[in-house]
Amino acid sequence: MKITDIRTYLVQVGPRPPAPGAAPGESDFRGSRCWLFVKILTDEGIEGVGEGSGWPRVIETAVHDLANVLVGEDPAHIDRLWAKMHNATMGHGLTGTVGGGAMTAIEMALWDIKGKVLGQPVWNLLGGKFRDRIPVYGHAKTPAAAHRLTELGYRGIKISFTGAVNIDKVAAVREAVGNDVDIMVDAHGPSWMTPGDAIVTARALEPLDLLFFEDPVAPENLDSLARVRDGTTIPLAAGERVSTIWGIRPYVERGLVDVIQPDTGRAGGITQMRKMAAMAEGHFITMAPHSGSLGPLAEFAALHVMATIPNALMLERIEFDWPGRYEVVSPVLTVEDGAIAVPDAPGLGVEIVEEEAAKYPASRNVADMPPDDGWSYEPGTVAEAVYFQTRMRRAARLSLRPTGCAK
Ligand SMILES: [Mg+2]
Repeated sequence: MKITDIRTYLVQVGPRPPAPGAAPGESDFRGSRCWLFVKILTDEGIEGVGEGSGWPRVIETAVHDLANVLVGEDPAHIDRLWAKMHNATMGHGLTGTVGGGAMTAIEMALWDIKGKVLGQPVWNLLGGKFRDRIPVYGHAKTPAAAHRLTELGYRGIKISFTGAVNIDKVAAVREAVGNDVDIMVDAHGPSWMTPGDAIVTARALEPLDLLFFEDPVAPENLDSLARVRDGTTIPLAAGERVSTIWGIRPYVERGLVDVIQPDTGRAGGITQMRKMAAMAEGHFITMAPHSGSLGPLAEFAALHVMATIPNALMLERIEFDWPGRYEVVSPVLTVEDGAIAVPDAPGLGVEIVEEEAAKYPASRNVADMPPDDGWSYEPGTVAEAVYFQTRMRRAARLSLRPTGCAK
């Protein structure tokens, strides 16, 4: 069997509709997302599908470039082809998540082909299952939103902040869902959060028994994460922005986190995900793959990986997403009792609905920035936040005073 062509499908992901009962602004999606699906064609008519995230409009170009070293190859030799792609890009330096995303999409599709050739689901080619169902967690910022998810069976809720972590909001969700539901907090690695302030925040969160506190400081400086690690007992999670085993290696080897969060769309592929999990297993670290911005096809790959590793924790999921999530692939995944069933069809068990994907041509892939008044860079404003933002009022940023305390 030979690879004959690689096609790409770039889907513009529209604004997220308000969820029923959502508080004003809660369901707004201000960014601009794309999903990049790929299809590898072969001379025997078997096709494999994959997905790459990271910067999809750029990754699409990278995928077509990598096709130059893949067309004519036998798709059976997945690891060798991955190494060939990796070597082919070395002249461009460390290509990061863009290169990782492109190799991920292609490698995922190669696994899909192998499964279809052998008539087996990918999980059965990876060593078989530890579990038939993968627990998921959702996103909520209010008790009402958390209740919507628990009513669907979710047993894990993440509260995300793009700036200060509001302890009162986290406490309100904890009180609403009780102690039978896991809650997590994601600070998104704010570049202006000093290790000291992150430690203050983490200690304030400790009584709320989080499953983990995610990206408390900017991932660019792992020494900062080490300081946070030493300053709190709260479990930490990180790693969504790195690719390959070399990206995740310091998180694991330095024991910086309790949970690694590689993104199934840009980690480097199914095998890279499994290798990362094995590295983590050796340090008694669990894995909860990131899924914040990637699409519904890579979610299938995550399920196959999660089914086969001993240290799977939970899979992230955006339940109330852009409606196209449930149109551009088939079948669609559903959550029951807080988990998704592992697919059993040969390969990944998912196909692209091309006519639906074609309805949403890509236009952009960079996020909207907050409205500003001409980027005046006034101290204490959002517009000032170029990279470091240190002049915002610290007390307001930390929001750690108990409710009712005089400001
Ligand atoms: Mg995150």
